[in-house]
Amino acid sequence: STWWGHVDPAPKDPILGVTEAFLADPSPNKVNVGVGAYRDDDGKPVVLNCVREAEARIAGNLNMEYLPMGGSNHMVEETLKLAYGEDSEFIKDKRIAAVQALSGTGACRLFADFQKRYQPESEIYIPVPTWANHHNIWRDANVSQKTYHYYHPESKGLDFSGMMDDIKNAPKGSFFLLHACAHNPTGDKGHFPFFDMAYQGFASGDPEKDAKAIRIFLQDGHLLGISQSFAKNMGLYGQRVGCLSVLCEDDKQAVAVKTRLQQIARPMYSNPPVHGALLVSIILSDPDLKNMWLKEVKVMADRIIGMRTALRENIEKLGSPLSWEHITKQIGMFCYSGLAPEQVDRLTSQFHIYLTRNGRISMAGVTTKNVEYLANAIHEVSK
Ligand code: PLP
Repeated sequence: STWWGHVDPAPKDPILGVTEAFLADPSPNKVNVGVGAYRDDDGKPVVLNCVREAEARIAGNLNMEYLPMGGSNHMVEETLKLAYGEDSEFIKDKRIAAVQALSGTGACRLFADFQKRYQPESEIYIPVPTWANHHNIWRDANVSQKTYHYYHPESKGLDFSGMMDDIKNAPKGSFFLLHACAHNPTGDKGHFPFFDMAYQGFASGDPEKDAKAIRIFLQDGHLLGISQSFAKNMGLYGQRVGCLSVLCEDDKQAVAVKTRLQQIARPMYSNPPVHGALLVSIILSDPDLKNMWLKEVKVMADRIIGMRTALRENIEKLGSPLSWEHITKQIGMFCYSGLAPEQVDRLTSQFHIYLTRNGRISMAGVTTKNVEYLANAIHEVSK
């Protein structure tokens, strides 16, 4: 017998598998609307100018020493201001336990491990649908999962009453995973809201506006947790830079929680990478670079908003009798199109258009050059 003879290959990742299939397709017409990474109007990846400028400032000056277990304190301080507000009393009162994390995924995972360790009986309520990796993250942290209603297939919008019922019916003190653009209903049951904020700035074009849900929860007196990522809003995908924060009852508790988060990180990766953290702290602490960043976030968000309008108009122009209002009503990087898995299969096999089978279209992959082609294909498969 061999050591690893019993190991089967893992199933393909539903999101990353789409890109593999796209790359293998030789068609000149092919379109990738599967991947959650921003592209410019030529379909090209983008490095922000503020990032290039920050890189130029550190070139040759950077030593390669380890960061502390909790990462760059400077980066974490600046990152917390984005989520909790520039003048947040919670920051002044040192009530936030926060560590640099391996982007949004790492922040979620660190929190899930922390949850398992210190609330071992708790479950996590995850919206339907959600980013598929949320399920993997809490599964591998051995936290059992429940789901709550979020999307309404008919309206292709929020199922508000379904969500409220699920929140009311959940046992007191449950953990709820919310995407940071979600609503504010977890008050009287004493639930713990954990915000995954992977797209701050991408929804409205303004990071302050996109933090609104969190600010409302803070005003309402909730203790909460936040995962922040600079993958999308600073285009630092492969740098893996983010932050996990937990708002605590007082500064003493925050010290305890922070040291425990560091203790969880130590045997996993010791300390987080230095380069991306340095870029983020330079950009956020320099008023000129921060302004440059805010403008560049807005350009990305506006391009996506423009493509929503263009896609909807192009489908409607073809005389589709169906309603496509949800394309422009939904916000953020994705459009949950409502297309059935079989219709998605036809988009791929007949039109070389690649997306996940749940009908999720990455608006970042839509350009002025492919929007007509995409609209026509969507119209054909939804007739
Ligand atoms: N959360 C959500 C909802 C996402 O869509 C993503 C990325 O697609 C992430 C978290 C994590 O991204 P990253 O780990 O690259 O920051």
